[in-house]
Amino acid sequence: MTDSRSAVPDWFDAEQTRLIGRVCTGCRSVFFPPTIASCRNPGCDGDVLEPHYLSTRGRVWSWTRNHYQPPPPYVSGDPFEPYVVVAVELEPDGLVVLGQLSPHSAPVDVGDEVSLRTETLLEDADGVQLVWRWCSDHPGTGRIAS
Ligand SMILES: [Zn+2]
Repeated sequence: MTDSRSAVPDWFDAEQTRLIGRVCTGCRSVFFPPTIASCRNPGCDGDVLEPHYLSTRGRVWSWTRNHYQPPPPYVSGDPFEPYVVVAVELEPDGLVVLGQLSPHSAPVDVGDEVSLRTETLLEDADGVQLVWRWCSDHPGTGRIAS
């Protein structure tokens, strides 16, 4: 049996298909990624942050096609294949979160609705590494495709 796991377990729960942010217990502001030590709201001096599952739906806010292989510790396939990165404004969290557009997605455009998926980034000697990707199930009319 092949072991499968989240490539970034502190950021992404692959079994639940949920991004893991942080919420300030003082002002309820939500943050992602979950690597902060205290609240970033300038009007709050809170320093207690709890794990918070982010929304799994949002709208494409912007996008780009990445032609450059990111350096370690980021993991990418070999040979490297360019991919589309979308910035998604989560509903109702209001955060903008980056992620790859799924190769299974219908073409999208700015403003289109997408949802979160768990997909395979790569398989190596240690097993399958899983990541989040954004995907549209709607018939594509957009100009952005993987
Ligand atoms: Zn706060």
